[in-house]
Amino acid sequence: MRIYVFYRRKLFLGILLIITVGGILIIAQRSLTTPSLVRAPGTYYMAHTQEKVAALTFDDGPDPTDTPDILDILKEKGVKATFFVLGQAAQSNPSLLKRLVKEGHEIGNHSFNHDYQQRRLVEEMNQTDREVFAATGTHTYFYRPPGGFLSQNQLDTIKKNGQVVALWSVDSKDWRNPGVKQIVDNVMKNVFPGAIILMHDGGYHRTQTVKALAPIIDALRDCGYRLVTLSELKMMDSEFK
Ligand SMILES: [Zn+2]
Repeated sequence: MRIYVFYRRKLFLGILLIITVGGILIIAQRSLTTPSLVRAPGTYYMAHTQEKVAALTFDDGPDPTDTPDILDILKEKGVKATFFVLGQAAQSNPSLLKRLVKEGHEIGNHSFNHDYQQRRLVEEMNQTDREVFAATGTHTYFYRPPGGFLSQNQLDTIKKNGQVVALWSVDSKDWRNPGVKQIVDNVMKNVFPGAIILMHDGGYHRTQTVKALAPIIDALRDCGYRLVTLSELKMMDSEFK
């Protein structure tokens, strides 16, 4: 009877040990491979400036429905923005890429397929850049990882590839479709001089983003803000060398 109890205890401890070691190994493996949000150092998500400037950025397009509406509003308001395009969407809509550049906007790189893990990071980045270059004759300089997720290794790889990782400092949270007023509030409550604002012109129906855009521009201007592209914002960064 005693031996039986002893065995059971040993068996229990053995299983516990296997679970613990297994768990530690899985966590260690994950921490090495799961991308995590990198805000600093080495990423660009705001400009150090006292001046009331901010940059509007749009991800996941170009989209044949929503991008033209957004471009119309920007044109009417005389605002230049930055569009982080997906290579796949760019391939299907080269005329929208041409329009973006023609109207003075900047094009950033947002991967080809929006793979959060970015397993083919450099390949996708180059693929997207080729699409942009074919349509517009310009290369992409800023890269924004899907979801903003990035490991240190990936960050190093992007730098070696000659691109700058651009994230954001103000999330409009338009991707949640929280309602037009909420999108405007999310921007206005968090904006500051040098902020990079995240919005979307593709990937899903962006009706709320389209409706929120003019009120956001008006509210920012009422507060004294000037809206610029990412490259322009970077030139105003006092820490930019
Ligand atoms: Zn995205």
